[in-house]
Amino acid sequence: MKELFLLKLGEIVLKGLNRRVFEDKLKYNTRRRMAKFGEFKVYITQSTLYVEPLNDDCDLDGAWEAAGTIFGISMMCRCRACEKNTDAIFKACCDYLGDDLMLAKSFKVESKRSDKRFPLNSIQLSQEIGGRLAEEYPNVAVDVHNPDYVVNVEVRENAAYVHGPSVPGAGGLPTGTGGRAGVLLSGGIDSPVAGYMIAKRGVEIECIHFFSYPYTSERAKEKVLELAKIMTKYCGRMTVDIVGFTEIQEAIRDNCGDDYFTIIMRRFMMRISERIALDHGAKCLVTGENLGQVASQTMDAMAVTGRVVSVPLFHPLIGMDKEDIVRIARRIGTLETSILPYEDCCTVFTPKHPKTKPVLALVEAEEAKLDVEGLIERAIQNTEKVTIRYYDD
Ligand code: ATP
Ligand code: MG
Repeated sequence: MKELFLLKLGEIVLKGLNRRVFEDKLKYNTRRRMAKFGEFKVYITQSTLYVEPLNDDCDLDGAWEAAGTIFGISMMCRCRACEKNTDAIFKACCDYLGDDLMLAKSFKVESKRSDKRFPLNSIQLSQEIGGRLAEEYPNVAVDVHNPDYVVNVEVRENAAYVHGPSVPGAGGLPTGTGGRAGVLLSGGIDSPVAGYMIAKRGVEIECIHFFSYPYTSERAKEKVLELAKIMTKYCGRMTVDIVGFTEIQEAIRDNCGDDYFTIIMRRFMMRISERIALDHGAKCLVTGENLGQVASQTMDAMAVTGRVVSVPLFHPLIGMDKEDIVRIARRIGTLETSILPYEDCCTVFTPKHPKTKPVLALVEAEEAKLDVEGLIERAIQNTEKVTIRYYDD
């Protein structure tokens, strides 16, 4: 019989009355994600999402890789389905797992019997299959305490399934169950990770990027779009709003005290992002800020920056160490792009002595020298919207 995927539901199983909503979303997301790889039957029973190819044309390796990016899955395995009798189960173990078994030093069989009508209980089934496999593969020792390889047998409602070790899924909650967020995306290491982390909680994301041509180059913009594309592998399609920021940065430089440049610039970013995000139906803003990392990320500075918006501000990296952030960036595939050396508008005109403890009233007094509303209006007019999909076709 054929190969299929068993994807174990994560936190969804803790949901109460609205569990169906989460399950339906997960099925919908999975069907969409699998469509590129052929025709699959996707359904959930017993806290497991089944992904079953309907014909031999399916690209199972492609589908498997994509399955690993679907939020809402805790563990996953590829398996072989067979009839629910010990002969068929034994044969499936040999045919499907024999090559792996032969390479192992030792093994054990672990069984789960959710179909209680099956005549052997799980211990008896493990003993039966383990005994027959030990005869078939005499060079591989049986070790029930610390085996090199575990043969898994699951007797479920429709069939029995055999598989090797499971691997972790993407975790989190299904995309689309947690609302929508506007992510302030720079070309750095932090903000793509912040976007990924909020997306993992089931949130759809839209990104906003500030761009200061000619102070920042076309290549810096391409880099941000590339980062967004990598993120769509996990969170699905998104729009990136690229906001022309040059006029605002020059106005701050020309009219406000040098030391206030960064904090006033960041207040503009927040105000503009809030308007764009609300326009996309997003209800919060997300940044890659991390307490104490730079002058603009002290608690005092963040408090003054955050005053200008009324939507909640989320900073998923706020308490993390840089090395942990880098580890996630490497795992999700954004790191290599993030470390390309193109400048960000945040590094244009940066003062030598940015205020780490800005006083709100003084910041407001400096800002009053500007036509805040006019500058925001024009920047929003001067926004380019780019739709990003993971697959171009
Ligand atoms: P990152 O690695 O995400 O660039 P950072 O440590 O360099 O962060 P800052 O440059 O102070 O820190 O930026 C803090 C946050 O502000 C970023 O994480 C991002 O959310 C947002 N941000 C910075 N620059 C931009 C930009 N050009 N466009 C959009 N958002 C930005
Ligand atoms: Mg940065």
